Amino acid sequence: MIVATGKSILNGIAIGRIKIYKTPVFEINEGTAEDPDAELKRFEVALMKAIEQQGTLYEKALKDAGEESAAIFEAHQMMLEDDDLQDSTREIITDQKHTAEYAVKTAFDSYAQMFAEMDDPYMRARSADLIDVENSVLEFLMGMDTSSLQGTEPSILVAEDLAPSETVKLDKSLLLGMITREGSSNSHTAILARSMNLPSLIQCKEIDDSWDGKMAILDGYNACVYIDPTEEIMKERSAKYEEDLRMRKMLQELKGQESVTADGRKVRVYANIGGPEDIERVNENDAEGVGLFRSEFVYLNSNEEPSEEFQFNAYKRVVEALAPRMVIIRTCDIGADKTIDYMNLDKEENPALGFRAIRICLTRKDFFKTQLRALLRATAYGNMGIMFPMIISRWELVEAKELLEECKKELLAEGHKIGEYELGIMVETPAAVLCADELAEEVDFFSLGTNDLTQYVCAIDRQNAKLEKFSDTHHPAVLKAIQMTVDAGHRHGTWVGICGELGADPTLTETFLRMGVDELSVNATSVLPLRKIIRSADLSK
Ligand code: PEP
Ligand code: MG
Repeated sequence: MIVATGKSILNGIAIGRIKIYKTPVFEINEGTAEDPDAELKRFEVALMKAIEQQGTLYEKALKDAGEESAAIFEAHQMMLEDDDLQDSTREIITDQKHTAEYAVKTAFDSYAQMFAEMDDPYMRARSADLIDVENSVLEFLMGMDTSSLQGTEPSILVAEDLAPSETVKLDKSLLLGMITREGSSNSHTAILARSMNLPSLIQCKEIDDSWDGKMAILDGYNACVYIDPTEEIMKERSAKYEEDLRMRKMLQELKGQESVTADGRKVRVYANIGGPEDIERVNENDAEGVGLFRSEFVYLNSNEEPSEEFQFNAYKRVVEALAPRMVIIRTCDIGADKTIDYMNLDKEENPALGFRAIRICLTRKDFFKTQLRALLRATAYGNMGIMFPMIISRWELVEAKELLEECKKELLAEGHKIGEYELGIMVETPAAVLCADELAEEVDFFSLGTNDLTQYVCAIDRQNAKLEKFSDTHHPAVLKAIQMTVDAGHRHGTWVGICGELGADPTLTETFLRMGVDELSVNATSVLPLRKIIRSADLSK
């Protein structure tokens, strides 16, 4: 048995034979065109067909994976319809007298290179899309048929990389899972795989042609693939696979239903997300909103401090896509375990107790204001909440709110629209719990960050695996702190949610409901399991 590891983009298990998928290579020489007019016609015909094909792929993606994923093919269509790109290609044919193939390769490659050099990581990623549409035109020019590459039996597909159009062209009924050597979790292929619910591994550096035809288990939970698995592994992972199937079937029936107890108490079940790439997961799991958008992932996924425009686009995409559902965006929670090179933060003895989150933001005010401006601009596009992390004192909250007001004034003067929004804080320190009454006077909501709250209440480093034995997620002090926060919030008309991992603990759901918790924000895949528990709870008993 071989065990190869990678990065999992979807929790799930696929069992089946491996099929090695080879993307066709286009051999194109610097050919001279004997008849440039004829070459030009060939280009126009191939271009029209490629544009048409993107439309077909859009429809297929819409059906298989939903609007958000399908949108990429609209973008592809627009790239192909770009006048400058078309004219550059035509010029290479007519003025430089080259073949249509050579002209397409040269013009499209140079545009792709331009995208690859852009600062904005989102635009950089579009370079792969240009190559994708280039290949589509070349396929038509060279009369290539790629439909047979997948084979005819259901299989786990292994490839160097897969372009979005390759992924969507695949016959889903024959696709058990995907493994690629390259790829990033933000790539459209990953987004498509996620929304098609396909267990997938990316960045699996050990893939090998010799795997072709071998039996394998793709284990998304453990981010690995077992080639020629032992009987024991096969038995164990098959059981997990069956359990997943049973669970998924049962939970699908809960979609569209309310999260309400048998005696009529309504609780909001929201999802935690890290960025726009998770929109599909929110929809797929029928979350009623987003209770925690960890905006620091927007910073972590970037090689440099993300600009206001870049952040605004990321926040707007989420808020707009999920409107009218609530989306609570937490301001940058950098520091402790989440470090970023370009922030140039000093090494600290006690990073969990150190310079992090709101402490950085209130020290580096220009840095903070860039984010606040982006957030405020996004409020115009849906229903939003802004939340500050790691608050311990009222003055921090007051200062953050003053900065928010300052940004608001600037933006209005510049002519930007600002919508309504709710304001809240993470309650994740003992200080915030003990001062919850006075903090509640300043905000619309509290969200209990039980991951940090547990670490600080119990003095247990959440990063230290050696402390497992002493760590008790149900510690009475933590539960008491939650009850105190809910009571203090409610005394002042402030609603209270939980967005730490404890919120998804099914053994505590009823306890939280009895405490009066108004919202639970959990990993998207926990939304429907929680809804099931809530619907079977009866608080009147
Ligand atoms: C928490 O502390 O519970 C929380 C939700 O925030 P994070 O895990 O990002 O620190
Ligand atoms: Mg936290």
